[in-house]
Amino acid sequence: MSELAERFETHDPGEKLVAEKIRCDACPVMCYIAESRTGACDRYGNVGGRIVRMDPLTILDHAAETGAAIVPFAEEGETWDGELVNTGRRFVTAIGAGTTYPDYKPAPFIVSQEVEGVDLVTVVTEGIFSYCGVKVKIDTDRHIGPETATVRAQGEAIGHVTTGEYGSQMLSLGGVHHLTGGSKAEGRATCDAMLALCNRKPVELVIDGGATVIVEAGKPPVIDGKLEQRMRVGCGSATIGMFATQWRGLVDEVVVVDDHITGVVSEHQAGKVLGWQDTGIKIIGRRSTPGRYFKVSEPGLGWGGTSISDPLSILGEWNAKKGARPGMSLLMVSTTGEQFAYYELDDELKPVQKPFPERLRKSVELIEDNCEPALCTVLFVGGAGGSLRAGVTENPVNLTRSVQGLTTYVTVGGAPVYVWPGGGITLMVDVTRVPEGAFGYVPTPALVAPIEFTMRRDDYVRLGGYEGEIRSVDDILAKGGEYLNPRRGTAAPRDNPWPPLAQLRRAAANGAGR
Ligand code: SF4
Repeated sequence: MSELAERFETHDPGEKLVAEKIRCDACPVMCYIAESRTGACDRYGNVGGRIVRMDPLTILDHAAETGAAIVPFAEEGETWDGELVNTGRRFVTAIGAGTTYPDYKPAPFIVSQEVEGVDLVTVVTEGIFSYCGVKVKIDTDRHIGPETATVRAQGEAIGHVTTGEYGSQMLSLGGVHHLTGGSKAEGRATCDAMLALCNRKPVELVIDGGATVIVEAGKPPVIDGKLEQRMRVGCGSATIGMFATQWRGLVDEVVVVDDHITGVVSEHQAGKVLGWQDTGIKIIGRRSTPGRYFKVSEPGLGWGGTSISDPLSILGEWNAKKGARPGMSLLMVSTTGEQFAYYELDDELKPVQKPFPERLRKSVELIEDNCEPALCTVLFVGGAGGSLRAGVTENPVNLTRSVQGLTTYVTVGGAPVYVWPGGGITLMVDVTRVPEGAFGYVPTPALVAPIEFTMRRDDYVRLGGYEGEIRSVDDILAKGGEYLNPRRGTAAPRDNPWPPLAQLRRAAANGAGR
């Protein structure tokens, strides 16, 4: 008996059936499940002596080309007559469809549909992704941790901080090494965190040498207990470039404090073009090009993603020979406009903070207005391999070639995906475009994600598809499938294109439409 099978009271294939328990064979764990109980993943259960998929099959009915409403399959004991929206634009997603296991079995549903005179086939399966991860983009200028720092959930290493992008901090989480290459606790914590993130639940992540961040797809991050509000408008240099004209004639000097590039208007090209006078200012930092300074401070939770709370700490002595004079005015502002202060030089050329003048308020508000809301974006990234591709065609590499050749359109729960160039089928999907609760797991551990492949019927046959398994949407609605649990779905509508039409249009645009 395998270790997992033992843990979940399961048995290896071929072993004798345990009294009144029946075996689920939808994944390698092979749980034996008692009446009215569910297996280790809670996705399958024993209902009346039959293994059923416990979540409802989700069928999309697209009310318009760009609007997708989720339509329930049917209440128990009913069949759905398709009249709820009645657009005829239905799409059987893989959510609740069940899994192809072992590899040679055809996918749970292979659905035919005629669209604009073309016979299309959609192959529908819930893929078990042992090789998968989550990329998190956190729109904030707060420093959350150094690059490559370990990210932990439940105290276990589940990923790392990767390269920050413009105004965003990025995390790379999961992957097969954390899922199965470490301890059991690490694998479980990784799987739990990825599952929650993909199903749009909040997850607390602790970064070694950095911040504690609560990440939830589609929501602002909470960093060290503080709900973030804004993503910066740009780096300090870009901010100077964008708003230099707003400050002209209102103030003698402007410094935009930023963790990456701090900008100084009198030295910056934007100021020079406008005829800005030298001010004799001295910035303590590494000068890059005129008016642009790197490393004015360590990164942190202070002004502009730096660690400073007093912006004057980045200024050196003012130089009278280079233009400094008593009474000179100075605006210091962060890249989000959240922090700002106004100073005037005294007789000894020391900046003294003064009440913030009304004349500058509009320009600071403009910086704030140009910021975007702080936000967490979660992308599921997975490599579709073995059982998944074999469930579509007897010759799996044909599916890969067909996806790469754009004759097959891939969706996750009806949501469009980005397929990476190169070998294999490595896809990314924004989890907020996937109906809620679409992701599951198996305790191997691995994530389960819905995946659909839509293509012309003749292409499907040509790539070695299971032609004898093709069924109409109506037949699926009327008769269900091997494991189908006909219960009501509850997911919310999403704005995704209707996959069959999207496939036809893309194929036509790429000259693949015939
Ligand atoms: S873990 Fe889930 S899918 Fe796998 S055998 Fe058990 S109940 Fe079935």
